[in-house]
Amino acid sequence: AVKTSGKNNYQYYSSEMNQKNKRKMLLESALRNALNHNELSIYYQPKINIHTKELTGVEALLRWNSTEHGTVSPTEFIPIAEESGLIIPIGEWVLKTACKQNKLWQDSGYVPINMSINLSARQFQQNNLIPVIKETLEETQLDSKYLNLEITETMAMININQSVTKLKQLKELGVSLSLDDFGTGYSSLNYLKKFPLDVLKIDKSFIHDIISDEQSTAIVKAIISVSKSLNLTVIAEGVETIEQLEILKSEKCDLAQGYYYSPPIPAYELEKMLTFTEELIK
Ligand code: C2E
Ligand code: MG
Ligand code: MG
Ligand code: MG
Repeated sequence: AVKTSGKNNYQYYSSEMNQKNKRKMLLESALRNALNHNELSIYYQPKINIHTKELTGVEALLRWNSTEHGTVSPTEFIPIAEESGLIIPIGEWVLKTACKQNKLWQDSGYVPINMSINLSARQFQQNNLIPVIKETLEETQLDSKYLNLEITETMAMININQSVTKLKQLKELGVSLSLDDFGTGYSSLNYLKKFPLDVLKIDKSFIHDIISDEQSTAIVKAIISVSKSLNLTVIAEGVETIEQLEILKSEKCDLAQGYYYSPPIPAYELEKMLTFTEELIK
């Protein structure tokens, strides 16, 4: 019942309150308790070597099943976590949980794989990022060479000098670094050279259009070629079909990730795709 007499402006505006902002506020308040209420979990998505079909690593992807709101997509709640600062405790939880999981797999006798974890802009800018990563590695006993951090182009470009310093410090810890969603930002190749990266991830929007759109195909080819000349591993994200995979294979893209191989899945399902070390010896 909206009364638009004009006398009761407050009521008018509050009842007209933008539905989006309202949902955002409700989600933020629910997200505040998500960790305590055990509503967060991590799914893992395989990264596959296109040529050998080996599973080389997984990407940890956060999932939120809220008692009040049901399943909420990370594309909706990560920005809310970011704006509210909740991404700091949540991000630390992801780091610790995913590193612990990777160590557990190794201790169970599986062939070691890489664990990729997404860092948010705010996490990346935190002064204590380096000690947090260091402590996580010490606490979980995971060898740093099995930890890979994914940062986006846009994040790295906010303050280039600061990013270079941070990335170098991370590299000194022994972790590897990926540039996520590559091609969607606007970093010049010159900066790309300055960042001590290991992996370029081609954004899934280009892979999606690789069959239908010549420009996307050209961009994918260019990114693969840049990766080779900078000595970086290149991975395609969002690979859904055999046709897409065939093009990537012929262009000598190294790795692929996407529904074609597997969606993100819980740890116990991912285990079915891992190889025991002893199977290799046999
Ligand atoms: P991202 O890091 O670029 O992750 C890739 C996204 O593509 C994931 O979406 C994944 O589920 C989705 N994906 C994988 N394969 C396919 C495919 O074949 N087709 C299509 N259409 N999509 C595919 P998701 O899980 O919804 O995550 C969205 C974004 O949320 C991530 O993009 C990342 O930026 C952010 N995010 C997720 N988990 C975390 C986290 O723990 N910390 C932070 N800071 N950000 C996270
Ligand atoms: Mg990512
Ligand atoms: Mg990505
Ligand atoms: Mg993306």
